[in-house]
Amino acid sequence: MARLLKPFEYFEPRTVEEAVQLLSKYGHQAKVLAGGTDLLISMKKRKITPQYVVYIKSIPELDYIHYSQQAGLKIGALATHTAIADSAIIKDKFELLASACGKVGTPQVRNMGTIGGNICEGGPSQDSVPSLLVLEAKLKLISLHGERIVPIDEFFIAPFKTALQEAELLTEIQIPTPPPRSAGCYKWFTKITTVDESLAGVAVLMLLDSTDGICRDLKIGLCSVAPTPIRARRAEQVLRDKKIDNSLIERAARVAVEETSPRSRADYRKRMTGVLVREAISETWQKIRQLHLRERA
Ligand SMILES: Cc1cc2nc3c(=O)[nH]c(=O)nc-3n(C[C@H](O)[C@H](O)[C@H](O)COP(=O)(O)OP(=O)(O)OC[C@H]3O[C@@H](n4cnc5c(N)ncnc54)[C@H](O)[C@@H]3O)c2cc1C
Repeated sequence: MARLLKPFEYFEPRTVEEAVQLLSKYGHQAKVLAGGTDLLISMKKRKITPQYVVYIKSIPELDYIHYSQQAGLKIGALATHTAIADSAIIKDKFELLASACGKVGTPQVRNMGTIGGNICEGGPSQDSVPSLLVLEAKLKLISLHGERIVPIDEFFIAPFKTALQEAELLTEIQIPTPPPRSAGCYKWFTKITTVDESLAGVAVLMLLDSTDGICRDLKIGLCSVAPTPIRARRAEQVLRDKKIDNSLIERAARVAVEETSPRSRADYRKRMTGVLVREAISETWQKIRQLHLRERA
């Protein structure tokens, strides 16, 4: 049954400054609205009933994708999943993020939903987050008191609870350029429903030494298998500074499973984590080997 939204006062600021002033004035009674693909559903279900809604999509300075080798990738909080999935530079240099954003929901949801909203929703199953974790993204948060930069692995505190403080706005996601001869991928497994929520999502970023085949660095990010998105740091250690082979990949997958703590469908999610970690590492390993072969040819 369709439910009406509880009445609220609506604001449509045109600048970040105006937005943070409104958020500061109304405090916990205000809520930021971006694409609305999460927030409006929560408001309809009356899980959240803000008295003031601050719609930020009319702030043009928050919608951009910029890249330079030195400064890395800078994504405005309002960039949509479609814009990120279709961006030539992101597909080329940050392919795991492009595929994660391309996986979100349906075309309508990707056209409306923003990366900022995906991160700030703070749920365990946000698809962009594992890739952002392994890419070591940093978040620029702005309030009336100034700006602060928070590494994304310090942002998620508990299910739907983040380090975002009252009256703070996420404005930018900053991602360093990955080292040359690294590669990554995002793998997921979904529950087939209207929202196709991920039952498990795995992002991997690997740096391989072409001279001796040693894995110089490996990062593994997981979503939907713990109360918050996490890095599987013990599994990463299994391969770091080792010559990769299939049995080591198997071991890393087993250790990653031990690091998960799913709240529902636990056995299934754990098993899927093992499968996806194994697949993601193997696929990334193949990608880098092909990259090396192409460079030598
Ligand atoms: C049918 C359907 C399918 C979906 N499928 C997926 C999926 O496969 N994978 C997935 O990860 N998600 C999925 N989602 C969830 C949703 O689309 C994404 O999380 C989306 O990125 C949210 O962005 P938004 O701009 O719509 O956020 P909103 O709904 O506007 O906001 C979400 C939350 O973030 C806060 N917020 C938003 N922007 C900012 C900001 N800049 N600063 C501070 N706070 C902010 C809001 O106050 C709110 O609490 C789906 C949703 C639907 C309806």
